[in-house]
Amino acid sequence: NAFQAFNLTDVIERAVHWVSKAASDGFRVDMDIPEGINVFGSPGQMQQVIMNLVQNACDATAGQPERVLRIHAARVGNRVEVRFHDSGPGIPEDSLAHVFEPFFTTKPVGQGTGLGLAISYGIVERHDGRLSAGNHPDGGAEFVMTMPLARP
Ligand code: ADP
Ligand code: MG
Repeated sequence: NAFQAFNLTDVIERAVHWVSKAASDGFRVDMDIPEGINVFGSPGQMQQVIMNLVQNACDATAGQPERVLRIHAARVGNRVEVRFHDSGPGIPEDSLAHVFEPFFTTKPVGQGTGLGLAISYGIVERHDGRLSAGNHPDGGAEFVMTMPLARP
């Protein structure tokens, strides 16, 4: 859990691997991430954040014929911006302001704790990063995480 420089791509791949093993039919993750994105922080905590986002996309697309999460990363100045865009129904307007609140969930009792995004938000903040929730103009939810790149 100690803070260190680490390769974000490796951590994203590991997180996707774990959630995909548990995921139900036809859920697919498309990744478009440049090589050598190094950030500073806790790889374990960051893996937890990404697993939460991937799990939510998996839940949001359940029952759809086409279930896709696109993870796209790009360097922007001295930061990396990672976008998570899914093919689900998106986040209703009246939920948008609440998704990061602890215990906010729209899932049936027993299927969601409402803690995933609250915990993720705190973790990203402690990495000098930002996590925001929104909807993509083409449909589906889009979460955007930005973090400082590790100094070379
Ligand atoms: P949980 O998954 O246990 O419900 P989270 O904190 O992970 O808790 O998410 C809170 C709520 O935010 C979800 O119940 C859902 O209403 C909404 N949400 C999160 N991710 C998505 C998504 N990809 N698409 C639509 N709604 C989402
Ligand atoms: Mg969740």
